[in-house]
Amino acid sequence: MGRGLLIVDVQNDFCAGGSVPVPGGEEVARPLAELAHAVSAAGGAVFASRDWHPPKSHHFIGWGGRWNPHCVRGTPGAEFHPDLDLPDETVIVSKGMGPRAEGYSAFDGCDPSGKPFGRCLEERGVHELLIGGLATDLCVKESAMDARMRGLRVELLVDATRPVDAEEGERALRELETAGVKLVTTADAIQEIEETTNAPPEAHTEEGAHP
Ligand SMILES: [Zn+2]
Repeated sequence: MGRGLLIVDVQNDFCAGGSVPVPGGEEVARPLAELAHAVSAAGGAVFASRDWHPPKSHHFIGWGGRWNPHCVRGTPGAEFHPDLDLPDETVIVSKGMGPRAEGYSAFDGCDPSGKPFGRCLEERGVHELLIGGLATDLCVKESAMDARMRGLRVELLVDATRPVDAEEGERALRELETAGVKLVTTADAIQEIEETTNAPPEAHTEEGAHP
C-alpha cells in the first residue's frame, strides 16, 4: 500500500522541562503514538527521527550555532518523550550526528545500520508519508519539503505538530500547502487507514456488474 509515518523529534529536550522546549511539544506524543500503532497494524512503515548530536556541535551556542545544547546522544534529553509509545518495529532515524551537521531534515539522517532515510522509504515502497512531530517551523517543515522534492505524497498532521514560533509555524504551514502538502488531523488519518484496510479488494466486482 506504500504508506509510512514519520514522527519527527518527539524528544525530551523539545518538550516541557527540556533545554529547547517547543510550546506544547509533549502534547503531540499521544496522538502520534496512537497513529503509529494504527499505521503499523495496517502494514505501513513507522519511522521516528531524533536529533542525536555530539556534545560539541557547531549547531549549539558556544560553538557558533543558534541553539542551547540539546539532544546530546546518550543523555536523557535525547530520549523520546515517555508518552511516545512506539510499535516495536519502528525504525529510528538519527540525524545531526556530525560536529558540523545541523540535521534539520530526517532525510539527512539514517537508520541504525547507517542506511539513509530516503533509501529506507524506497525499500519499504513508501509513496505516501504522514508527518508529525517537532517543530513545525524547523525539522518538520524541512522533512516534509524534502519528501515533496522526492515526489512523495505528503500529509502533515496539523494537530500533532507544534512550532517553536507561532508566526513561523503558520508561515511554514502555508509554504507546505503551496508545495503540495495536504493538511490533515490524526483522526482523519486513522479513519482513512481503517477505511482502506477494511475496504473490499478493488478488483472484486459485484455479481452482475459485468454482462
Ligand atoms: Zn538539533
